[in-house]
Amino acid sequence: MVYTLFLVIFLTNHQEDLIVSNTKPTIAVIGAGLGGAAAAALLQKAGYPTQVYEQAPEFARLGAGIHLGPNAMKVMRRIGIEDQLERMGSHPSHWFSRDGETGEYLSRIPLGDFAKEEYGAAYITVHRGDLHALMVDQLDQDRLHFGKRLEKVDDQGDQVVMTFADGTEATADLVIGADGVNSVIREHLLGEEAPIYSGWVAHRAIISAEKLKAYDLDFEACVKWWSGDRHMMVYYVTGDHKEYYYVTGVPEPDWNHGTSFVDSSREEMRAAFKNYGPEVQALIDCTETVTKWPLLERNPLPLWHDNRLVLLGDAAHPMKPHMAQGAVMAIEDAAMLVRCMETTGAENYADAFELYRFNRFERASRVQKVSHDNTWLRQNEDPAWVFGHDVYEVPLKDPKTEVKENA
Ligand code: FAD
Repeated sequence: MVYTLFLVIFLTNHQEDLIVSNTKPTIAVIGAGLGGAAAAALLQKAGYPTQVYEQAPEFARLGAGIHLGPNAMKVMRRIGIEDQLERMGSHPSHWFSRDGETGEYLSRIPLGDFAKEEYGAAYITVHRGDLHALMVDQLDQDRLHFGKRLEKVDDQGDQVVMTFADGTEATADLVIGADGVNSVIREHLLGEEAPIYSGWVAHRAIISAEKLKAYDLDFEACVKWWSGDRHMMVYYVTGDHKEYYYVTGVPEPDWNHGTSFVDSSREEMRAAFKNYGPEVQALIDCTETVTKWPLLERNPLPLWHDNRLVLLGDAAHPMKPHMAQGAVMAIEDAAMLVRCMETTGAENYADAFELYRFNRFERASRVQKVSHDNTWLRQNEDPAWVFGHDVYEVPLKDPKTEVKENA
């Protein structure tokens, strides 16, 4: 009697997982950032019983923008939100690079219709919070668990046991560490090691376009103002061009705040960009609140997966944001990981994880390097290797064959 009651309760709670798990392993995604949300959305669409554990109690619309290149929009197409994003975002005709002091044009990289035709999808800039909310909305809300900070992971060989800061536990067949630059899963695989502070910070502020109207200046839809050791990237984050956004890169020798960001000020911005032209001065004048973030990196990791654990996004390859490709790489990772699991069959997860790493490592490491050097699109160059990439169409390289060839 007690057993029957237990069975009824168990089946009621786990029916869906049991039905799907006839063929598919259960998956836990740690972190519902842009990488984790992309992975979970794609896994759930493919029929994997996927639970998502996020440490934050909820998400807020933080003041930040993001570029989504055509390479990311192709993944958004698969998730089913490409059209909504196209409506939500700004569609810059170009990425302009200009000298911060003289205003001289350094490069004009065509986007707009050119990007659609040449790279196969739109190039948009959007509010990060709006993008994130839309992605999180795609998830099965019953399987999205907020306030779950992973503290410990125990890969027992036949399953993984996760322990959260609130004292609860959960199990899964496979665990994806999408838990960012300070990943607990990375630490479990590779040991404790703080990320590298790059020596640069980024200021972020959203500016009301209405306020800018008082200045008789041309505010381009997407422009990066550069000088020797610093820059300011500026773009609209909404399709109606009501919100303009800047993000900087400014040298600062130490970061001792112990938090992921601090408040900055107009005075600090004026000092950092005192030689820059009138557009940048107007943006600083119109700044109401501005935050300052340390830019963190890691060298390429020697290990992305072990047994039932695998990393993606900033957990695997955090980078300076100077190509605007950090989150995009996390999204590409998510798509490639699911593609590889479908290719090998998820029961062969060791092969799937190695196929995934093998087909992502070189590209992610190259993007990390160019981001570190901060040279991207400063001069005219062909961005096709980044924007034209289609994670679903690129031929898969087989690690076994390649290793033999290289031996
Ligand atoms: P994250 O976004 O860091 O998400 C990790 C998630 O895991 C978070 O929600 C976190 O709360 C959660 N988490 C962490 N630890 C735990 C735990 N123990 N248990 C449970 N949950 C946990 N990229 C672009 O593509 N375009 C841009 O324009 C761009 N601009 C940027 C500007 C700045 C100033 C910065 C700093 C970065 C920028 N990036 C940009 C980079 C981008 O933000 C990151 O690369 C991206 O957020 C990585 O996504 P992720 O999902 O891997 O990690």
